[in-house]
Amino acid sequence: MEITFLRKNIILNCYHLLSMQFQRFVHEISFILTFTIAIWSLSVSTAQATIVFNITYDDMVNHTGIGFDDPIFGAERRNTLNAVFDYLNTVIDSNGTLDYEVKDSNNLPNSSNLAAGSSLYFPSLNGFQDGLAFDHIMTGIDPYPSSYDGLVTFNFGKNWNSSLDTPAANQYDLYSVALHEITHALGFRTLLNEAGNSQISDSNPGVFTTWDSHLVLGDGDPLFNSAGKFIGSTTDLVSNDIYFSGTEANLANGGKPVQVYAPSTWSASSLAHLDVSSDLMYPFSFRGEEKRQYSPIDLGILQDLGYTLYSDLTQIHDIPEPSSLVLFMMGGILLLSLYFRKLSKPPILFNRII
Ligand SMILES: [Zn+2]
Repeated sequence: MEITFLRKNIILNCYHLLSMQFQRFVHEISFILTFTIAIWSLSVSTAQATIVFNITYDDMVNHTGIGFDDPIFGAERRNTLNAVFDYLNTVIDSNGTLDYEVKDSNNLPNSSNLAAGSSLYFPSLNGFQDGLAFDHIMTGIDPYPSSYDGLVTFNFGKNWNSSLDTPAANQYDLYSVALHEITHALGFRTLLNEAGNSQISDSNPGVFTTWDSHLVLGDGDPLFNSAGKFIGSTTDLVSNDIYFSGTEANLANGGKPVQVYAPSTWSASSLAHLDVSSDLMYPFSFRGEEKRQYSPIDLGILQDLGYTLYSDLTQIHDIPEPSSLVLFMMGGILLLSLYFRKLSKPPILFNRII
């Protein structure tokens, strides 16, 4: 806009030297220039940011011939993941990067796992960490260049809808499950274990997540103090009475904290999911089910985790529909469970997959 005003001033200063006819011509040119530059400025200021998703498909690197390297479905599956990344670029307003590893696919028809994913965290930094994925996406600075920021594994031993079409009644929807797993990498995850210690450092205080910092009990008591120490009890962790409390999430949930999955028997999915069956971040996926959008609650949580979202999304604060028990009737309940693996080489990073 400064350029606009400068040009205009120069033109105005010269005005008195010009004939009336030429003045009109100059005036029109001035107007067009001003208008053009104003539009250009507007387009620059509202241009959509773009997160660069650097995806490594280990199936292709290792020529597994399955999963994302499948000769029939591989390209379609990669295309579906690209659609998920495109969707994220309509949600998160950032010019950062995500280095994401899609690990060798499993082919385990009898496993209860559909998929598992996570961010990576620094094991030696006690306190609440955002995760490498968050850091790289939001700052554009690679927090640990020799490592991926997040990872995911899929089990293609199941019947998947690999395409962008609606899943058939007997298919799991790759788009929906991929969005769920990538959202774990964005920070929807706990690092508490059932003993109340950090899964990474096996200590308290220890390494926990920003998500953890928002966990409270039904009576509002926080599970952590501000120094990052778990101050609840192990009974609390299996109480069915744990909630995510954040300004934006609560607003999206009718003013109340959002119930977190905390079943009476500790589960691999405990505390890392929402206990809202209609929500993308519910820990179970059903055949024929399609969840390809963030709910207002999900968007609120993303904001509470520190993401900058496009403003048209942050205005939505609906009270969600009551969850439907019908979902429970749709057989094939599969746990998106978690397991972990340590890097065989040093250092410093601990991989955990949900
Ligand atoms: Zn999950």
